[in-house]
Amino acid sequence: MAASPFIIIAIDGGAASGKSTSARILSERFNLLHVDTGSYYRAITAELLRRNVAAGDLPAVRAALAGLRLGTRLSGRSAQMEIDGRHSDDDIRSRAVNDHVSHFAAIPELRAALLSYQRGLADVARTHKFRGLVMEGRDIGSVIFPDADFRFFLHADPAERARRRAGEGQQDSIAERDRLDTSRKASPLTCPPGATSIDSTHLTLEQVVTLMAVPINAKLGPA
Ligand code: C5P
Repeated sequence: MAASPFIIIAIDGGAASGKSTSARILSERFNLLHVDTGSYYRAITAELLRRNVAAGDLPAVRAALAGLRLGTRLSGRSAQMEIDGRHSDDDIRSRAVNDHVSHFAAIPELRAALLSYQRGLADVARTHKFRGLVMEGRDIGSVIFPDADFRFFLHADPAERARRRAGEGQQDSIAERDRLDTSRKASPLTCPPGATSIDSTHLTLEQVVTLMAVPINAKLGPA
């Protein structure tokens, strides 16, 4: 029997569009490495805020970025970022990070610093014998892995997304983040041509996952 292929799945979409939960379920169902790139932009934002670096101060951002050592540690099927040998989940969902992350994420040098790091996670997945990689974010199908085997773009009505985020107990200005993420020059949030667009407003999570899992299953077979 032929060895099953190594696959790359890109999931993009706005804030609270259901990317993370869908990606996590797919990673479990098919034994894929799960990469939440939003958590990387958040971790770098938290670190720069800790150092009192403002997004508008480009020389300070550049200097700080040049000194950051990015590493990876696996937690189950999730690839987590370490900065200078430390991983911290504590403050990356804070109000301050929610408010600043899209401003830092619009800086081309910051995105460039993450580009090869993110692509390199495919090798991490192969080394650890995963059957592939499911990476979620804003520019995965358009910039990071435009040749991914599967590219999905999730969207949902803003009111429904705000309701989901509030249900998680988070204060998050998702409309403002979406506005900044779609209007920036560097790798804006967009549904790239050829990606499968899924409107999850009136779908259950299980229905969204099934829409994604059917074609993946056809290519990969069950785990
Ligand atoms: O996915 P999450 O909402 O946690 O992402 C936080 C922020 O990180 C986004 O609003 C966006 O500004 C930035 N981001 C990005 N590109 C990605 C992932 C996240 O610009 N691939």
